Amino acid sequence: MLTVAIIGSGMAGPVLALFLHKHSIPCVLFELRNPNSQQGGNIALAPNALRVLDHLGIYDRLRLRGYNYDELAFANGSGLVLGKLWNGSQKLYNFAALRIHRSIVKEELIRECEKKGIEIRWGKKCTGVEEEREGSAVIRFEDGESVEAQFVVAADGIHSKIRPFIFPGSDPTFSGLMGVMGTVMAEDLKSLGEKHGLDLPCMVFGERGSFAIMPANFSGNELGYFATLEAEDRGREGWQKLEKNQQELKEMLNERFLPEENGFPALVQELVEKTPTETLTSWPFMSVPHLDSWSSPKKRLFVIGDAAHAIPPTGGQGAAMAFEDAETLAYVLARVLASDFNANNLPDIVSKWEHHRHARIVKVIDFTTKNGDLRKSSPHYYEHAAKEWVIWATFKWMGPEGGAHWMYAYNAESVLGALA
Ligand SMILES: Cc1cc2nc3c(=O)[nH]c(=O)nc-3n(C[C@H](O)[C@H](O)[C@H](O)COP(=O)(O)OP(=O)(O)OC[C@H]3O[C@@H](n4cnc5c(N)ncnc54)[C@H](O)[C@@H]3O)c2cc1C
Repeated sequence: MLTVAIIGSGMAGPVLALFLHKHSIPCVLFELRNPNSQQGGNIALAPNALRVLDHLGIYDRLRLRGYNYDELAFANGSGLVLGKLWNGSQKLYNFAALRIHRSIVKEELIRECEKKGIEIRWGKKCTGVEEEREGSAVIRFEDGESVEAQFVVAADGIHSKIRPFIFPGSDPTFSGLMGVMGTVMAEDLKSLGEKHGLDLPCMVFGERGSFAIMPANFSGNELGYFATLEAEDRGREGWQKLEKNQQELKEMLNERFLPEENGFPALVQELVEKTPTETLTSWPFMSVPHLDSWSSPKKRLFVIGDAAHAIPPTGGQGAAMAFEDAETLAYVLARVLASDFNANNLPDIVSKWEHHRHARIVKVIDFTTKNGDLRKSSPHYYEHAAKEWVIWATFKWMGPEGGAHWMYAYNAESVLGALA
């Protein structure tokens, strides 16, 4: 029997495996994809995400492979800066923010797992839970294999196959927004050399939607963008088809951001025009209903990361929460698997962990949802003017910390106090 089986080798899975390894707890990762499968797009890692990676000794390598920045400018459709948020800060948080290719983060995590000798079983699709026993759980795979482990952790993303066992009927729902991401090299952009009126990285809040522009490599010459658009739900297969139909994505961007009357700055228009179609990727923003518990009745199965609480990507916190869940759960498992642990205390320690994490996740979802609302198009000019005023007034009132200090300053080690 395995000690810990982890389903999913995205963001949360390998981080959990590496923390367990630090505590000399054996584990195996099961991942449905193959090692070479590529996932496009970039992510912004805020200080709280980077603190977790620093605890693993990976941050210094990642820092050199992405764009390090402190300030994120919030601008209106004409490029007027309404305020600047410290998305990271060496002085305040010990970390600048990092914008980086998602594939690089995965590559570094997998490399570290391999270096530590952690087994990853690729091409293994988990199909569900067979049974939860008193001291273990049994999960099954598409190829017919069943695996028994003392603990099973589902880090298998938003369409988790373990979550329905813990919380039946918790299917993800579409939020009404989608993101389209593309990449253009700075040297291909004419308006960058001219006065384009935008401080980068920045988030443009236009009347007809929002458009984030963020460099994504160390030197800053690779400009990634993230457009947020309202959309009708297409169903899981429909979204997968759209992601492959890059021509359709390009047309969606053209229609929204190119017309003069939609009033987006020249740099936004040029980015859309010059995007090599093959760099386009898309994501529907999905959410999972609030789950009262992230563990099974006998506390042998857990869900973490997007499987537990998918957070819309409008606050740059999804991966951060997945990392924090992984680090904090590793401390719980280290206690539980210690030779002097009294098994009767298992429900109590798990509930302390859930309580600690729930309180934080609820706050983060609230922050992210408000941010998402700002990114929607405004139906009327007056509504948009009010939105601009709210952004301006928030920064005037709260300063560049933007009310996010509690989120970025969090240290996952603080769970140790809660578990005592
Ligand atoms: C457009 C977009 C932009 C984002 N930007 C940011 C950002 O800037 N900052 C940020 O912090 N977060 C961001 N996020 C969120 C972030 O990417 C996710 O929250 C994070 O990846 C969640 O990690 P995870 O490990 O829980 O799930 P995932 O990263 O989804 O990993 C799940 C893994 O499980 C595997 N898997 C799935 N099903 C099975 C199965 N049945 N059997 C075996 N394996 C399985 C998958 O192949 C995958 O490797 C963004 C998300 C989106 C969609």
